[in-house]
Amino acid sequence: MKFEDIRRKVIETGLKMLNMKLVVGTWGNISARIPGEDLIAITPSGVDYERISPNDIVLLDMKGKVIDGHLKPSIEWPLHVAVYNNRYDVNAVVHTHSTFCTAMAMARKRIPAAVEDLVQIVGGDVRVSEYFLPGTKELGQAAVKALEGRNAVILANHGCLGAGPDLNETFKIVCVVEKAAKATIFAQILGGAVELEEDDIDFMRDFYLNKYGQR
Ligand code: 13P
Ligand code: ZN
Repeated sequence: MKFEDIRRKVIETGLKMLNMKLVVGTWGNISARIPGEDLIAITPSGVDYERISPNDIVLLDMKGKVIDGHLKPSIEWPLHVAVYNNRYDVNAVVHTHSTFCTAMAMARKRIPAAVEDLVQIVGGDVRVSEYFLPGTKELGQAAVKALEGRNAVILANHGCLGAGPDLNETFKIVCVVEKAAKATIFAQILGGAVELEEDDIDFMRDFYLNKYGQR
């Protein structure tokens, strides 16, 4: 099978997403760019994460045309394709329906840039994109707009989308965003989160991207 490694990695990320309770049932979806090709690998629509096998992963071109696959791709393929076509730094997209991000999405409230790990991994606050129905081209366009300069966005009345350089990092992004959404709601009880200064956000972002960890 072509591109088996990446298909397996998409499945593995789906299982992690399910086990971390970032989705319930078959909601949410995952994709990854296939290195060196104008193609993405995306989860099939409405199939239990535990039952997806490598040949169930659908390969799409950058217009969303099915190149390989026997199942329907995720209904959110226009959202995934829009992100890849507008963000050349993005090689993986993870869409979750995690609980605290859903609360923010329902209230249409952004996650403020008020905590270290969030600003490091996302690049600032997490904005809420304009509301559009799931599976629409308009949702994709709105998400791309609200994602500018960031690695995550809240989809109004829907959930969260993380977009990053690879599947491991993008999975980490949606976990950190979910934690920040939860902490934002608790901070609200304590009188509200105090947002970080732009200079400090830029410093921490640069540190994370260029210096953090073992290099
Ligand atoms: P799919 O099962 O088609 O990926 O749809 C789930 C979802 O989250 C729609 O927004
Ligand atoms: Zn969804």
